[in-house]
Amino acid sequence: FIQLYAESIYRDRRLRGTMLVLRDVTAETEVDRMKSELVTTVSHELRTPLSSIYGFTELMLSRDLNEGRRELYLHTIHDEAKRLSYLVSDFLDLQKMESGKQTFEWEPVNLYELVSNSVAFYQETTDLHELFIDVDIEQNFVIDADLEGMRQLFGNLLSNAIKYSPDGGNILVSLERIDEEVVIKVKDHGMGIPTASLPHLFGKFYRVDNSDRRKIGGTGLGLAICKEIAKAHDGQLHVESVYGEGSTFICELPASKEHIMQ
Ligand code: ADP
Repeated sequence: FIQLYAESIYRDRRLRGTMLVLRDVTAETEVDRMKSELVTTVSHELRTPLSSIYGFTELMLSRDLNEGRRELYLHTIHDEAKRLSYLVSDFLDLQKMESGKQTFEWEPVNLYELVSNSVAFYQETTDLHELFIDVDIEQNFVIDADLEGMRQLFGNLLSNAIKYSPDGGNILVSLERIDEEVVIKVKDHGMGIPTASLPHLFGKFYRVDNSDRRKIGGTGLGLAICKEIAKAHDGQLHVESVYGEGSTFICELPASKEHIMQ
């Protein structure tokens, strides 16, 4: 994008000429476009749960409802408020990371313990029915990392593997040391991801919009956050998936000798 200015040049009150200035404003225009796109997306994402909360509370206030309906509406309001609160906190987390304002503190983190605790949490709090989770990580595998970041990264990947495996199956979290890299895989045998969605999966607010997963809650920010955390650790996150068969999320972190204290 080029911006054009014209400026008249006077000397002794007489017009001496006109100066034309051409300025390349491509970068500014792109930032403005991205900002307004973000505001539109965020307001849209916030509006959906808000209108639902507004609509249901209005219904409850204006009508005499039987116990069954009251309960149903209250549950909907509760779920939408929860969604709104996750959305805001995920969004703030992501903004902080993307703008470099998130401070990461490096300390020795035992990955076996971290993943096992996360698995135990889901086993206690979620109905896993036909779902089995295995952890194949050496018990004393320690890496220099940010504890909270690692918890969030593997917590999100595990929670997705559980959420998107509604018919059960096995989930395996494994770790391998390959040359100078630590490769951690979270593999499930759930719904898998359509090939067309793979390039967008780590984008902000991206959710696969298929009828098979419309009822599964989420914000579309979890994987974008995971990617930022991996990046902050000089690592990478990617996915391999076969639609209908399952997915493997692969996180590669650098494993310089100082990092590993086995
Ligand atoms: P969400 O809050 O929607 O789960 P994420 O950013 O964590 O957001 O994931 C983005 C989308 O990627 C999800 O909506 C889901 O469709 C797909 N996805 C993520 N993890 C898996 C998985 N393990 N199996 C199948 N689909 C997945």
